[in-house]
Amino acid sequence: MNIKEIPKDGKKLSIKKDNAWFMDMVGDSGIDVESIGGDMTAVVTVRQEYTKSVVIEGSAHADVVMRCVKCLQTFQKSVDADFSVVLEPYETSVPAHHAIAKHDLDAEFYVHDEFDPEAVVFEQVMMGLPQYPLCTPGCKGLCPSCGTNLNEHPEHSCTSTRDSSTFKNQLKKIKL
Ligand SMILES: [Zn+2]
Ligand SMILES: [Zn+2]
Repeated sequence: MNIKEIPKDGKKLSIKKDNAWFMDMVGDSGIDVESIGGDMTAVVTVRQEYTKSVVIEGSAHADVVMRCVKCLQTFQKSVDADFSVVLEPYETSVPAHHAIAKHDLDAEFYVHDEFDPEAVVFEQVMMGLPQYPLCTPGCKGLCPSCGTNLNEHPEHSCTSTRDSSTFKNQLKKIKL
């Protein structure tokens, strides 16, 4: 979107993006997202403040499928994000030698009068995801010996444990 397309009293946008778009945005960012259930949706208002700042304000929703770090099962995390993001023109606000600041989360920029409201919404949804994704707060994880899911099999006692008790029985026999 070009800043020239923003009317004086702002513009309301309804954004709806599917799983393919979302996963393309995730790309190889290293963020552990499996897919999204349904579409990412958002309603935002875009307006210009002062001379050059662009304000993108609104709310977004996405059901993001992540993988639990403990049991490795996928689960759905619903994100509802309310946000107000200010974009500054990149050329004038940042000296060239500070180009690295473009990646600073505290500062958002647009370049050559172009900006992407959808990318802003995506970023806001991603910021609503947990750093340490767990399917449930009390996830029991996997058996360290055989990998059995201990949430599904809370009574699991591992073969390796049985092996060692058999071994103890053998020892008892030897002692007798
Ligand atoms: Zn889990
Ligand atoms: Zn086991």
